[in-house]
Amino acid sequence: MTDMFDREHLWHPYTSTLNPLPVYKVSSAQGCEIVLEDGTRLIDGMSSWWCAIHGYNHPVLNAAARMQIDRMSHVMFGGLTHDPAIELGKLLLEIAPPSMNKIFYADSGSVAVEVAMKMAVQYQYSTGHAKKSNFVTIRSGYHGDTWNAMSVCDPVTGMHSLFGSSLPVRFFVPSPSSRFGGEWNPGDIGPLQEVIRTHHEELAALILEPVVQGAGGMRFYHQEYLREAAKLCRENGILLIFDEIATGFGRTGKLFAWEHAGVEPDIMCIGKALTGGYMTFSAVLASDKVADGISANPPHSFMHGPTFMGNPLACAVAKASVGLLLSYDWQARVRQIEKQLKEELAPAAGLPAVNDVRVLGAIGVIEVREPVDMAYMQKRFVEEGVWVRPFGRLVYIMPPYIISPEQLGRLTSALVKIVREL
Ligand SMILES: *Cc1c(COP(=O)(O)O)cnc(C)c1O
Repeated sequence: MTDMFDREHLWHPYTSTLNPLPVYKVSSAQGCEIVLEDGTRLIDGMSSWWCAIHGYNHPVLNAAARMQIDRMSHVMFGGLTHDPAIELGKLLLEIAPPSMNKIFYADSGSVAVEVAMKMAVQYQYSTGHAKKSNFVTIRSGYHGDTWNAMSVCDPVTGMHSLFGSSLPVRFFVPSPSSRFGGEWNPGDIGPLQEVIRTHHEELAALILEPVVQGAGGMRFYHQEYLREAAKLCRENGILLIFDEIATGFGRTGKLFAWEHAGVEPDIMCIGKALTGGYMTFSAVLASDKVADGISANPPHSFMHGPTFMGNPLACAVAKASVGLLLSYDWQARVRQIEKQLKEELAPAAGLPAVNDVRVLGAIGVIEVREPVDMAYMQKRFVEEGVWVRPFGRLVYIMPPYIISPEQLGRLTSALVKIVREL
């Protein structure tokens, strides 16, 4: 199955070139199915890492891409603008937190995080707090793989030790122990309170993923943490950055996860499902306070501007994808997926190899006791006709919202069956 050119020459995410993990060659994808070269059809449990919320090869998104590509695929955003950027912007402001009023388009999630962090530092500089240039975050986070994004990822799973002194050192506090849907333990905010009390003069911003921590641990924490954290930030002149790159566009049952807490950030990053998984694209939303703070003082400009900023093709597909999401009762759909995940993953909770089972929105997680053998698990899932890619001790799914109850049933039964074998 493994292609020899691929094996010899192509790097895949987080793999060795000497002993690469096996890869499966895909010939097409349609709806909730990924079709392998040999004709095997796999039910997709991953949405290609949170992105393909409408499934693959969607006629509405295909049409938007075709229509735009016949006009122009790209023009530079320096000194030029276009309808796709403007119309997407209008749509995003309608669904963003009310205080968000400025939009910076970027290339990928990691770049959005870089941009958000630069905004925070530049805001502090421009408003007379040049010393406030560091960041605090919670452990088990994931914010991307570029330099500064990586610096605020969980230091253990993000392998900070590999990068030594060249990686900026941030402040880390334990992630909240209070679970989403459980009791709030007021002690959870203590460590953040302490770091902010001691280091507020150095801190530009607190960055975190609201409610759901994704690739850093698939944890769902209590929304009260966000309320308390926001208060501490406000009192100490620290900006609040929400990374909604994974949680955005309905995945947690709300359009964006901040809505669970009713806490608005100063800066918010979105990406992944923004284009329905069609191409890489992201955006950083900011309040007027942040944008005006940066712009009112020298150098009067925000110092970032990627080559493919505001790419018309990506904007057009993103507008179609967000429009499609808002055009149907996606909440009911995500609630149905949540209910089915809860019912069908529950039997895993009693298994000897299982530590915890948790579900929120269209995310289902089985946390096992020992790290899994990824190559073996991937092969077993393919044998069962599903596409699931576990990592560490986490076997999890976040399927496209269009998944049918039968397809979802096949995913959950494969999950429980294979975890039972451990
Ligand atoms: C995936 C992810 C990123 C990074 O996005 P890329 O597009 O992979 O660069 C950042 N933050 C969160 C929360 C993510 O899930």
